[in-house]
Amino acid sequence: MAISEFDLIKDYFNKSGLIPTTEQSARIPLGIGDDCAVIDLPPERLLAVSMDTLVADVHFPAKADSGLIAQRALAVNLSDLAAMGAEPLAFTLALSLPKVEEAWLQGFSLGLEQMIQKYRCPLIGGDITKGPLSITIQVHGLLERGKILRRDSARPGELVYVSGELGAAGLAVSLLGNGMSLDKPDTKELHSAYYQPVPRVILGQSIAGIASAAIDISDGLMADLGHIAEQSGVGIVLNAKAIPISKAVKNFMGAMGDKSKGLNLALTAGDEYELALTVAEDQQEELQQKAAEINVPLTLIGRVVKGSRVKCLDSDGREIDIKNSGYRHFS
Ligand code: ADP
Ligand code: MG
Repeated sequence: MAISEFDLIKDYFNKSGLIPTTEQSARIPLGIGDDCAVIDLPPERLLAVSMDTLVADVHFPAKADSGLIAQRALAVNLSDLAAMGAEPLAFTLALSLPKVEEAWLQGFSLGLEQMIQKYRCPLIGGDITKGPLSITIQVHGLLERGKILRRDSARPGELVYVSGELGAAGLAVSLLGNGMSLDKPDTKELHSAYYQPVPRVILGQSIAGIASAAIDISDGLMADLGHIAEQSGVGIVLNAKAIPISKAVKNFMGAMGDKSKGLNLALTAGDEYELALTVAEDQQEELQQKAAEINVPLTLIGRVVKGSRVKCLDSDGREIDIKNSGYRHFS
């Protein structure tokens, strides 16, 4: 690399807008520049930690806009904090770059800055190496003791909810996979659903202590509810008619004359960053009230039952045949 690693860090990462503000530095006495960053944890809070890697041409097209890649990389990590009910604290970033392209880095840095500002989650360290384009982010968040949204604590009799509308990001992925561009006016919403997913950070914190279990559905609704079912030792029955299918998907699928695919996408497509959660019946009202306060749509989609599988039933009570359940890297 012609420009040194140190200059790269200084020019694109160690700069105001990305690093902790004066106020945030009370919790982060040391950020970029030393061998480690240092976090001063508030007493009585727990640290939640999660990491996600995005590899070019596996998790995003290598030619995609670098600002959008940055936003997506941070969004998918923040979504994991959301799914635990954690408040974002700070993140580290490991970048592998095939070459130094200053315009690319400029865009990347700007994309990061927008997310950092929006979610108040500053950059506190990282690493840069030469290699195939790949981005790894580790996020850190704060949890309140006793208010952890785990996967293993759903109980039979509880209700299952999902936030937002489903299927748009999955449709975007399948169009990208077929070599289609998402830059046309009728794919605008699909484009933003894929590149700019909105992590449900506020929702996660609001429902912590109310929901009994939660997960973000980055591998698809059925597959991720399957994790709750397995880890909690329960079954889950979904009501097909209640599944909120994205309007963008309905429009696009309607135009293509295939509506049943919409439901299949909503149930199985990954890259969705909504939260699926379970709640005891007597906590339902409080849950809905919290979601209404922050203007996040929540839909009742099913029930936790005794058993071990996730099923989706049509209006006649017949189990719907699901074509694929979630993305798996090694199969
Ligand atoms: P070391 O040799 O100790 O790993 P580096 O030279 O890799 O240190 O990094 C110097 C400082 O810059 C460290 O504080 C590190 O956390 C930070 N840093 C390196 N790469 C990045 C990056 N991509 N984003 C943010 N901080 C970074
Ligand atoms: Mg290093």
